[in-house]
Amino acid sequence: MSRRPLIAGNWKMHKTPQEAQDFIERFLSFSCDGFDCDVLVIPPFTSLDRAGKCLLESSVFLGAQDMHPAASGAYTGAISANMLKSCQCSFVLAGHSERRHVFGDTNVVVNEKLQAALSNDLRPILCVGETLEEREADRTESVLEEQLAGGLKDVSELDLAHVVIAYEPVWAIGTGKTATTEQAQDTIAFIRAWIETRYSETASEAMRILYGGSVNPANAKSLQAQPDIDGALIGGASLDPDSFAQIIAEAMSLQGDDDPC
Ligand code: PEP
Repeated sequence: MSRRPLIAGNWKMHKTPQEAQDFIERFLSFSCDGFDCDVLVIPPFTSLDRAGKCLLESSVFLGAQDMHPAASGAYTGAISANMLKSCQCSFVLAGHSERRHVFGDTNVVVNEKLQAALSNDLRPILCVGETLEEREADRTESVLEEQLAGGLKDVSELDLAHVVIAYEPVWAIGTGKTATTEQAQDTIAFIRAWIETRYSETASEAMRILYGGSVNPANAKSLQAQPDIDGALIGGASLDPDSFAQIIAEAMSLQGDDDPC
C-alpha cells in the first residue's frame, strides 16, 4: 500500500497574523501543488483565522498546535475543536513534546484531546518520542509503547484511519541534532509493528508516520527515502517559506528517482 506523504510545518510561538499572511503568500508562489504529498502549516492560535483565509483557494492544509478536549466552558486560555474548525483547521497536534514537557500534558490528557479531535472531525497528529536519557537507558521502546497505548486508548480501528503519528525524539527537537536515518527508520518501523499488533496489518500499512526533529533541506531527502517514513513534522526550518518549500522539494525529489540514496 502506498501512503501519501504529509509534510507539516509547526510554527510554535512564532508569527503574527500579518507574518503568517506574508509567509503563505510567498510559499504559495512556489506552487508545491505539483508534488504528490499533503502539505500542512500549523500556526499559533492567533494567526489561524488569517492563515485559513489565505489558504482558502489552495490545497495546503491548516492545523493547530493544541486544543482543549471540552466543547466549551470555564477553561481560561483554552481553545476548543469548534473554534479551530471555524478557522478552517483540519488537523491538530496532540502531545507535542513541548506540550508534554513544558505544560505537563500526560498520556491521559493527550488521549482526551485526541478523542475530542476525532469526535469533531479533526485529524489528530499524535506526537511521541523519547528523551535522550530514556534512549541512553535503552527505554525508547517502552516509552513509545506507553505513549502509543495511552494516546490511542479506546480509539477504534475505524477512527485510527484519521490519525497520523509523528515520531519526534525529544533530543532532536530544536537541537540541530537529527536522528540518523537508521535510528528514525528503525524506531518508526517499531511503531508500525506496534500498530499491527494492537490493530491489524491493514491499519499498520495505512498509518502515516512522520519523522520530526531538526529536519532541514539537507537531510529531508534521505529521511523520506526510508521505507517507513511518510513525511516530516518540521519546526525551525518551516518558519522560512523558502526553506519549507525546499524541504518539500527535496523530500519529494524521490518521486521517479531510481536511486534515492
Ligand atoms: C517540532 O517542533 O515538532 C520540531 C520537530 O522542531 P524542529 O524541527 O525545530 O526540531
